[in-house]
Amino acid sequence: MFNLEKPVRYISTRGVAPELDFDDVLITGLARDGGLYVPKEWPRFSKAEIESMKSLTYSELAVKIMEPFIGDNIPTDDFIALVHKTYSRFQHSAIAPLKQLENNLWLLELFHGPTLAFKDYAMQILGGLFDEALRRRGKRTTIVGATSGDTGSAAIEACKNREAIDIFILFPKGRVSSIQQRQMTTVDAPNVHTIALEGTFDDCQDMVKSLFNDLEYRDKYNLSAVNSINWARLLPQIIYYFWAALAVGAPDRKVAFSVPSGNFGNIFSAYAAESLGLPIEKLIIATNKNDILSRFFNSGIMEIREVQPSLSPSMDIQVSSNFERLLFDLCDRDGPVTKGILDDFRSKGTFNIKMDILNQSADMFSAVGVDDKATLDRIQNTYRSTGETIDPHSAVGLEAAHQARSFGSLSPELPIISLACAHPAKFPDPVKEATGSYPILPAQLDDLLKRPEKVTVLPNDFKTVSSYIADNTNV
Ligand SMILES: *Cc1c(COP(=O)(O)O)cnc(C)c1O
Repeated sequence: MFNLEKPVRYISTRGVAPELDFDDVLITGLARDGGLYVPKEWPRFSKAEIESMKSLTYSELAVKIMEPFIGDNIPTDDFIALVHKTYSRFQHSAIAPLKQLENNLWLLELFHGPTLAFKDYAMQILGGLFDEALRRRGKRTTIVGATSGDTGSAAIEACKNREAIDIFILFPKGRVSSIQQRQMTTVDAPNVHTIALEGTFDDCQDMVKSLFNDLEYRDKYNLSAVNSINWARLLPQIIYYFWAALAVGAPDRKVAFSVPSGNFGNIFSAYAAESLGLPIEKLIIATNKNDILSRFFNSGIMEIREVQPSLSPSMDIQVSSNFERLLFDLCDRDGPVTKGILDDFRSKGTFNIKMDILNQSADMFSAVGVDDKATLDRIQNTYRSTGETIDPHSAVGLEAAHQARSFGSLSPELPIISLACAHPAKFPDPVKEATGSYPILPAQLDDLLKRPEKVTVLPNDFKTVSSYIADNTNV
């Protein structure tokens, strides 16, 4: 058992910001030196402890895994109640059901939360924890976030109507699907503000970073982040990796995961699960045609190119914020070295990691880029051979799983769990193109297209955006 007297503490990947406990990391988000918080040390579950997790429900497993990371800031009974309440609102009684597609190939469905994408699994917990922590401190906060689609609606659903929170979500104008946009802009709550920024997702993300890096502004409006730069977003994602691996035979059997990746948040949680002792043989980083991550893992060269719109818009990202957390480990947890590499990357748009350093991680990761045609083909093949309708993001993951099996070194005996990150109804057009029919919108979104929208269009300009937020927050 972990010693809760000594819960996990957190350090910044840039090595300068102070070491914090969970509550402060939760509220701070991005570290004050521009880095990201990571556990100072990874706790490790023994094989016997992992074995004993097999009998737990999803919520019980969630408590078991998250407890050592959270410590005693929140009373244990309150935490347990929060977790149970959160997941009891999900639409499927298994919370994260596994569907077998073929021998040794499974789909892990992570779209049974309120906004139909995997981000609900963490964001709903985060919203509850935030509310608790702020109430205890008698404070208010301004949450500012950038979204390429799903984060925004998940964050809004998790924060709407909460007393102590004003939330501002920036999304790239015209680059999210109409369903994604409406899931954000039709929420009728006075503390919710949506901004359509004239730019790309990377512009939105840079804008949020600039707001946070203006320390005076940040303090004045008590800014917080719910992007996956916030450690509290990654923590609850670890649960479903344990959940799925246990279901297919861990800890006696090793497993592989294929993870549709954009900001490297979801797959970093898989890496965290492995660090906690879960026997993972391989993590497949599945990217769309914005394949900076797969090019990097195959060459050691991280090189920015233009973001190209694809059929899986939530992965249309060039600069993956959470990659910094892995880079920190690859640099032997040396903050200044990590910072040097990233500063270089900012100014030159490229950096190069020696292959021998990269090879440390090559054992664990392999990376596959999947273009739009292969994405559509995978949706179609899956539909024809199994009857399952999958969304384009899930299809990227599944196609990468197939390629890793066919061309990589993965044994046919190794179970691969491919993550289904969004409900197909969120991306009706490509699904129709591939299968011939529109996916059915679940009941909770029935009248989405009829609800009125509330959204403000702003130029990609720091002054305009920062004043808009200042004028509209109650902090
Ligand atoms: C956010 C998202 C991704 C990318 O996840 P990261 O954690 O950013 O790597 C993939 N698919 C869907 C459907 C998403 O919403």
